[in-house]
Formats: sequence, C-alpha cells, structure tokens
Amino acid sequence: MSIQRSRSPFERLRQRLDRTSARCRECGYDGDDAGWHVTTSGRSVHYRFVCPSCAGVETREVRLESPRR
Ligand SMILES: [Zn+2]
Repeated sequence: MSIQRSRSPFERLRQRLDRTSARCRECGYDGDDAGWHVTTSGRSVHYRFVCPSCAGVETREVRLESPRR
C-alpha cells in the first residue's frame, strides 16, 4: 500500500530542473551551487540563472499544467 503523497508541482519542476543543471552557455560555468532563481507568473514558472563568472543569463520557462476547470 502506497502512502506516498503526490508532490507539489513546484517540487516536481525543481527535480526536473535539477537534472538540467544550471550551466552558462557563454563560458561553460557550471552553476550547480548557485542554482536557479525562480519566479512564477500564474501559469508558468520562470527560472533564471545569472552566471557569476561572465554575467551571462540563462532562462528557462516551464508551463504549469492547466488548472482544473
Ligand atoms: Zn558564464
């Protein structure tokens, strides 16, 4: 019998992004330590990573599943 609770969407997104580590495209800096800065805007989650090495910016956008109607 499973007593696992379903994870929150945020946790799942976080795990998904953990696999996609923050890495700077400009200089190849591996930003695992810094991680992503997360902001949400209703239906989507924006991830932003500013490279501490060259100040390049990486962004990802993940759309949340549409809410129940
Ligand atoms: Zn960089």
